Amino acid sequence: MKKIYFITGSQDLYGDDTLRQAERNGKEIASFLSEKLNEKVCIEGMPIVRNRDEAENCIITANSDKACIGVILWMHTFSPAKMWIKALQTLNKPLLHLHTQFNEKLPYDNIDMDFMNLNQSAHGDREFGFICTRLGIKREVVVGYYKNKAVIDQISRFVDVSLAIAFSKSLRVGMFGNNMRDVAVTDGDRVESEIQYGWNVNYYGIGDLCDLISEVSDEEIDQKMKEYTQKYEMDTDHVEAVREQAKYEVALEKFMQKENISAITDTFEDLHGLRQLPGLAAQNLMSKGIGFGPEGDYKTSALSAVLFEMAKYRDGATGFTEDYTYDLTDGEEMELASHMLEVSPVFSKNTPKIQVHPLGIGGKSDPARLVFDGISGEGVAVCMVDMGNRFRLICADITLIDQPKPMPKLPVARLMWKLKPDFKTGAAAWIYAGGAHHAVVSTALTSEDIRLFAKLTNTELVMIDEKTDLNMFEKNLELLEIISGKR
Ligand code: MN
Repeated sequence: MKKIYFITGSQDLYGDDTLRQAERNGKEIASFLSEKLNEKVCIEGMPIVRNRDEAENCIITANSDKACIGVILWMHTFSPAKMWIKALQTLNKPLLHLHTQFNEKLPYDNIDMDFMNLNQSAHGDREFGFICTRLGIKREVVVGYYKNKAVIDQISRFVDVSLAIAFSKSLRVGMFGNNMRDVAVTDGDRVESEIQYGWNVNYYGIGDLCDLISEVSDEEIDQKMKEYTQKYEMDTDHVEAVREQAKYEVALEKFMQKENISAITDTFEDLHGLRQLPGLAAQNLMSKGIGFGPEGDYKTSALSAVLFEMAKYRDGATGFTEDYTYDLTDGEEMELASHMLEVSPVFSKNTPKIQVHPLGIGGKSDPARLVFDGISGEGVAVCMVDMGNRFRLICADITLIDQPKPMPKLPVARLMWKLKPDFKTGAAAWIYAGGAHHAVVSTALTSEDIRLFAKLTNTELVMIDEKTDLNMFEKNLELLEIISGKR
């Protein structure tokens, strides 16, 4: 079980009784929160921190504890913040500053100086906040009585994002083949990705996978076919083409396990030794949270795995898709998102159908794929681009909709959505921001989750939502260029 350290700050000045009381209260809040969030994390109440050495030791312990994914700090009393400088300078885990009190209401009839000295986070948390700001520490400040639902929800969001960041830091991405020739937006600085997000991204020759594919047994294929027919509807007579995909998936699973990889890319330009482009195989892997980016798009692959992890304890769907084509009927514009084959079946409205159709690109055999109509509901589309001197996340609020009519001749899965605040503004903003044609779409996550992830990973974020005004948006982009030192 992953842990969050709950650290209560104070100082020696108050005497033993008060300090023991403050420590008890801190631990009680920690165990209350732990109970509320026990599905995903344990909130561990730490001994009270009274001075520079204790602060440093506590943070060093948090830093070196692999199970610890983040820290919550709360100044029950006043805690002179110079004692936190050294500790905070070493902190390498996500930080939530909880600005709360042990008491909800003021005890008007009984309040005295002792009570006020014990319960003075209004005082102590400001001192602590100053030093965090002075040190430039990215953190989430959550304000309110700790038993309030809104406060618990905010802490829960911090836990989800911290779990995703911990996952991100140990994520290995395998690229079969490289980036699609001449494509710009899917490319990026892999060294910088590892420095900033922990993504260890490596290229593998497709031949290594082909060797594994040739060793897959008929029994293993049968087993995988059983999985397919349990989850999906067979809608083809080309059983051999489906078995070919089953073989690819078995081999990919073995390869990923051996290399400790949780996200992959491939490219139709480098399939030497494969009869088909992996379609069904990639789709079924995506449904289990394996990151996927087509055309060598390692950023989308990694981001899809990280956001899937973030949404692990929520309802809704999260996965890769691609902006493809539009219905441009004036005032009723809609976007159709899809891909050559690889759209995650987590987005399917009904049981996906396994079909085999020709692929007009790549010169390979007809690949098996899952075909389905997409779900409806509110969601976000998120992409990451490399701006040369920094990464940028772009997050757009979207409304997934039922497709207005069947598309009997389209042999791939599809999603449809509407842009915000309106089609013209939403599409123009995405394009001005440099947004990619590949994105991770989620109905489980909101822009608030992406905002927090961007903040805690120190990533530039551009948001497109109901309030977006194009003139302000463009000005903001210009400011970001200046702030980044690029211009
Ligand atoms: Mn693509």
